[in-house]
Amino acid sequence: MSPFEGMREQVMLSPKEADEIKTTTCYMCACRCGIRVYLKNGGVRYIEGNPDHPVNKGVLCAKGSAGIMNHNSPARLTKPLLRVGERGAGEFKEIEWEEALSLAQDWLGDIRRTDPKKLAFFTGRDQSQSLTGWWAAQFGTPNFAAHGGFCSVNMAAAGLYTLGGAFWEFGEPDWDHTKYFMMWGVAEDHDSNPIKIGLGKLKTRGDAKFVAVNPVRTGYGAIADEWIGIRPGTDGLLALSLVHELLRTENVDLDFLSRYTNAPWLVIQNPGGADDGLIARDADGNPLCWDGEKNQAANALSAEAKPVLAGRRILEDGRQAVPAFDLLARRYLDPQYAPDAVAERTGVSADTIRRIAAELAHTAFSEEVVIEQPWTDWAGRKHDRMVGRPISMHGMRGISAHSNGFHTCRAIHLLQVLLGSIDCPGGWRYKAPFPRPIPPGPKPAGKEWHPNTPLGGMPLGNPTGPEDLLVEEDGTPKRIDKAYSWEHPLSAHGLMHMVIHNAWKKDPYGVDVLFMYMANMAWNSSMNVPGTLHYLTDKDSNTGEYKIPKIIYSDAYYSEMVPYADLILPDTTYLERWDCISLLDRPISSAHGPGDAIRQPVVKPDRDVRPFQDVLIDLGARLGLPGFVDAEGDAKYPGGYSDYIVNHERLPGIGPLAGWRGEDGESHGRGAVNKDQLDRYIENGCFWSAELPLEHQYFKHANKGYLDYAAGMGWVPNAEQIVLQLYSEPLQKFRLAAQGHGPLQPPEEHRARVDTYFDPLPIWYMPFEEAAVDTDAYPMHALTQRPMQMYHSWGSQNAWLRQITARNRLYINEETAAAMGVADEDWVWVVSHAGRVKGQVKLMNGVNADTVWTWNAIGKRKGAWRLSADAPESTRGFLLNHIISELLPAKEDGLRYSNSDPVTGQAAWFDLRVRVEKCLPEEAGLTEPTFDALPSPPNGPTPVEELTYGAQFTKSGRDGGVPMTEWIGNRREVSGNVAGIADGHGNRKGPGPKDGHK
Ligand code: SF4
Repeated sequence: MSPFEGMREQVMLSPKEADEIKTTTCYMCACRCGIRVYLKNGGVRYIEGNPDHPVNKGVLCAKGSAGIMNHNSPARLTKPLLRVGERGAGEFKEIEWEEALSLAQDWLGDIRRTDPKKLAFFTGRDQSQSLTGWWAAQFGTPNFAAHGGFCSVNMAAAGLYTLGGAFWEFGEPDWDHTKYFMMWGVAEDHDSNPIKIGLGKLKTRGDAKFVAVNPVRTGYGAIADEWIGIRPGTDGLLALSLVHELLRTENVDLDFLSRYTNAPWLVIQNPGGADDGLIARDADGNPLCWDGEKNQAANALSAEAKPVLAGRRILEDGRQAVPAFDLLARRYLDPQYAPDAVAERTGVSADTIRRIAAELAHTAFSEEVVIEQPWTDWAGRKHDRMVGRPISMHGMRGISAHSNGFHTCRAIHLLQVLLGSIDCPGGWRYKAPFPRPIPPGPKPAGKEWHPNTPLGGMPLGNPTGPEDLLVEEDGTPKRIDKAYSWEHPLSAHGLMHMVIHNAWKKDPYGVDVLFMYMANMAWNSSMNVPGTLHYLTDKDSNTGEYKIPKIIYSDAYYSEMVPYADLILPDTTYLERWDCISLLDRPISSAHGPGDAIRQPVVKPDRDVRPFQDVLIDLGARLGLPGFVDAEGDAKYPGGYSDYIVNHERLPGIGPLAGWRGEDGESHGRGAVNKDQLDRYIENGCFWSAELPLEHQYFKHANKGYLDYAAGMGWVPNAEQIVLQLYSEPLQKFRLAAQGHGPLQPPEEHRARVDTYFDPLPIWYMPFEEAAVDTDAYPMHALTQRPMQMYHSWGSQNAWLRQITARNRLYINEETAAAMGVADEDWVWVVSHAGRVKGQVKLMNGVNADTVWTWNAIGKRKGAWRLSADAPESTRGFLLNHIISELLPAKEDGLRYSNSDPVTGQAAWFDLRVRVEKCLPEEAGLTEPTFDALPSPPNGPTPVEELTYGAQFTKSGRDGGVPMTEWIGNRREVSGNVAGIADGHGNRKGPGPKDGHK
């Protein structure tokens, strides 16, 4: 008899794992992967990737599969709450929805009847911005934005003003054909599964090189063929040095530049004149080039023109002009961009820069990718095949989150364009509905507002010159966040990081209600957390009223922001509601064709909560907002968001969803409302996608068939060629205004800034904080990265994910640390000009020697997210947010600009400069600063020592349940004190199964 007889584990090989499987869309991060949710006994049993879904093709990341534990989080809010104590004390009473909505209606109705701008409506990682923005427009307030201003607006704006598309959501590498992939400053937080799938293809094919440019080698960079550990904030200088090398060695695609870009457009040379730097145009407004065969100016948009790219020309009216390429080449051939000149500043050796440039040139021009597919260009010219330069690039937060990020991203796009690697085989490709005209319409609305009146358009848009700014006659900003003002004119996503500060300071004015959704502004979404808590709680000494009088907040979870609001509207989890991932917003298209998706409720809420979008539509009807009520004043979408998704039309025939439109459901893109549309989506796995014919898949900016299709779909106003804008005339218009031209000029204090940073060609300048502080006193750069298993602050309520990361350390380069006398596991202070935080050190090699970094949003305030007060997130987790100022140091005249990019207003999180000081022995052990523990909201679930999941499925064995000991997939979501990760609600102290949170 075997000694193990009786001990063998009984494994049930074919358990009945689900009563039902429903498809929906993941929301554990922003990538919008398709998922299949296994349901058993009315509960969520298991989540897997949907193999049919175009975004993830079945791939599921750690976050996605752990969605069960967000859905079951003890931090879920359970009922509307009304503040009864002081703001910040976390004292609430539960109220009914009717009371909550009536209160919100009263507060908001008063504003709308008197001064709509007194509502500031800002949403966080909201995937329904086409609804929320439209709601704000119907309300009549200009003060709306989502979180893009502190996330990625530099990437978006630079792309939209250069290529008519952008990295991530509006474009992707041609993973199947690219042979050289450069990734600039990306952690795993965005485009997560698609990039993993793409990198998997590259690695499997084995014939492509992957170069990661990032001060930190973690995540994707860990599998890169070459890691370039650049000094933070110098990526633009590296890109321009590569441009220098390509120009110097004459490795640029002149044919591509002539055909598809404004490189040949003539730029007027009239120093001091009002037209200096503008594009020379004919009487019809067409840009001019110089036709080399006819030796005269010609319409640059004509297919017959034979443009030259260099040489000063005299126009008919006597003015002088040169092609944009001439200006560009002269600038970047300057020795200041030579590899030897930038090596020390970037931390990248001159030899490496020269080698990378040579590799790019070789791959682009000696390893062309050819697809034997005829296609027709915008002018009707036939091309026998598609020839591509197989260089692709991708960039994200590490580029975006610097005060020079807009120009850095423009520099990367310049590099791509010079190589001719835009939307070609092997290059970087647009995703529908992009490319769009450069810059795309519409312009921002909000020049004026009136009581009980909708805004003239959507609050966010893309300015093309000073006339589009939202400023008073004296230049004062019209928006509370100062977006579209002279401080940062192209702030296409708003400046959410400045709203609370400006509202508190009443600069440019105060607001009556701050209405926020899904934005943890009292913690990891704000710079200067201690200051922000003050702004939220500060009172007027005369009236005793809060300086921000009323705060309405909607969130699904007990985040740090909840105690700082007055009225809480509890949201559902993503598995309990309808959602729409729309072509009007940020869809799931790929380079192969358009796509959109929905979320459907796979389970019903077991709490008294409502989907925020339903609540917003309800409030819209209660307030009588046009668009939310019919001619009789009755609610137009009484069925809530699902009703709106199906029946709303933004333009005739164009609604939130593009699939299965028309009464018979046979139209896509445009078509009448189809009452069965959601059913059709559900039948198809909750998404719609269409594959473009191969002849339309490349060169979309100039592909006749594609442009005709895009115009028919309403994505572009007409089928005209989209000319890539290396030289940006809109930027020059702002610069001319700063130089004293035109009727609209910046106030004196902003002139020099606009003149400097609105250069029509990409520039590099030192990040603002680095330029402002004493770099001897603050010699290090400090950054955050995101672990692939966490998305912003949500991960720390997740019993599975926080077992992987429940605390964070400060990572320092080994050699740097040795020089400082700092050892592994030492406790240190990280000191900036704005404050200091304390944390524990981990040494590593894969980080730039002048840089320290840590994981973002792991540190939590005690009591928030219903973590126990001694959870490691609070005792050994820390945030760099505490020491990042939302304002730059004062200028000589006392003016303090926001800590943002001067072009777009993008929050400059990564400009932070610090020094690291070793703690005294008695200071080691706990992170600082700490804040008072937040009390639990009323009647929330009892905090559990241990959160397990799955016990409810073990009850009845064969007839549906699976004994816990017999199915390894049913293991408890607990762990011991692994690798220094101590208790929180996810960690287990003793053996044996326990019932956990249901
Ligand atoms: S990448 Fe994001 S959307 Fe996709 S499965 Fe992971 S968490 Fe979900």
